[in-house]
Amino acid sequence: MADLGKKHECETCGMKFYDLGKPEPVCPKCGVIEQAEVTKEDEDDDKDDA
Ligand SMILES: [Zn+2]
Repeated sequence: MADLGKKHECETCGMKFYDLGKPEPVCPKCGVIEQAEVTKEDEDDDKDDA
């Protein structure tokens, strides 16, 4: 099995992809660089900034 690296989900298009071990995971669909490794379980837009 190939080393796909970490799994990411593009916040722009929602596509799930792997970073292939690269430090800057780029979405293969829209080319957006995903910065955070944050795993969001809920895509709720919580605008409750304190
Ligand atoms: Zn994307």
